[in-house]
Amino acid sequence: MKILVVGGAGYIGSHMVKQLSLSNHEVITLDNLSCGYEDAVKYGELVVGDLGNKDTLNKLFSTHKFDAVMHFAAFIEVGESVINPAKYYHNNVSNTHILLDTMVKHDIEYFIFSSTAAIFGEPQYTPIDEAHPQHPINPYGRTKLMVEHMLEDYDAAYGLKSGCMRYFNAAGADPDGELGERHNPESHLVPLVLQAASGRRADIKIFGNDYPTDDGTCVRDYVHINDLCKAHSLALTKMQHTGNSARYNLGNGKGFSVQQVIDAAKKVSGKDLKVVTTDRRAGDPAVLVADSTLAKQELGWQPEFDQLETIIETAWNWEINFLASNHC
Ligand code: UDP
Repeated sequence: MKILVVGGAGYIGSHMVKQLSLSNHEVITLDNLSCGYEDAVKYGELVVGDLGNKDTLNKLFSTHKFDAVMHFAAFIEVGESVINPAKYYHNNVSNTHILLDTMVKHDIEYFIFSSTAAIFGEPQYTPIDEAHPQHPINPYGRTKLMVEHMLEDYDAAYGLKSGCMRYFNAAGADPDGELGERHNPESHLVPLVLQAASGRRADIKIFGNDYPTDDGTCVRDYVHINDLCKAHSLALTKMQHTGNSARYNLGNGKGFSVQQVIDAAKKVSGKDLKVVTTDRRAGDPAVLVADSTLAKQELGWQPEFDQLETIIETAWNWEINFLASNHC
C-alpha cells in the first residue's frame, strides 16, 4: 500500500514509518518539523510542510494515490493545552479538519488517528474499555475527542473509514536502537527517568506519593511503541476488509507505579538515581489502565513487549546511543 504518515518525524510516527516500510509499504512522511526531527525519518520520502496547508495537501494527494493516511501530528502536552488552548484547537482540531476535508475531496478512504486515553477523563472504573464514558478534563483530551466525533460524522456522511487508536502510556524505543523518544521539552516519565540515569538530568521527581495505590505513586499502563504501531497496521487491514470504522483502547492491561518504573530503570541501567518526591501534578488520576480486549479479539493484537523491564531496556539502549552520537 501507499500510505501518507502525517507527523512521521515524531516519536510514534517515526516508528510507524519504519514498521510500514519494513513491511513493504510505500510511505511518505508529511511533517512540519515543529516537534519532529528530520533525521528520525529513516525510511521513505519526507515532505516538510504543514497539515493545515491546503496547497501542500492538494499537491501531495494529486501527485500520489494514497491508500490510507495515518495522522500523528498533534500537540500532546496536557499542561500546555490548559495555558494555551488556542494552539491545541488550531493544530489538533482545525488543521486535522483541513486534512480530512482534503482527503474526502481526493477520495482517500481510510484514516488512522492517533488518539488518547485522555478522552475518557477521570476514570469511573478501571481497566478502561471502549464503553467507558468520555469526559475529558483538559483541552488536549477535548481536541482529540472532537476529532473522534468529527470522524464519526465524516464516516456517516462521506464514507471516510477511520480507526481511532487510543494510547495509554506509549513507551520504549525501536529495539534496533535506531529510533526513540525525543520530545522537547520532555515530560514523560520513562525518558525522564532514563535521562536521570544517564546523567542528562540531576534527578527524577515523583509527582505525589499519597495516591490510593499500593506504594502511593500513580499507576499507568505502559505499552511499547512497536506494539502500538502493530495495532495501527492491523486496524487498517481490518478496516479495509470490513469496511467499518473502529475505536480501540491500547495498553498492556497491566499497571505499573511511578516507583516501579524508577526501580526497573535502576535495574536495567545499573545506575542509582536521585529521586525527589514533590507535590501531585494537577489532573493526574491515581490509576489509568486499559482494557484492550476489543483490539485483541477484533485485530488479533497481542503486545509482544509486555514486560516493563523489556520496554525500559529498549528505551535505555536508545538513551545510550543518543548520548554516544552527541546529540545533546
Ligand atoms: N511522572 C512523575 N514524574 C515525572 C513525570 C511523570 O512522577 O517527572 C508521573 C506522572 O504524574 C504520571 C506518570 O508519571 O503519574 C506518567 O506520566 P507521563 O507524563 O509519562 O504520562 P501521562 O500518564 O501523563 O500520559
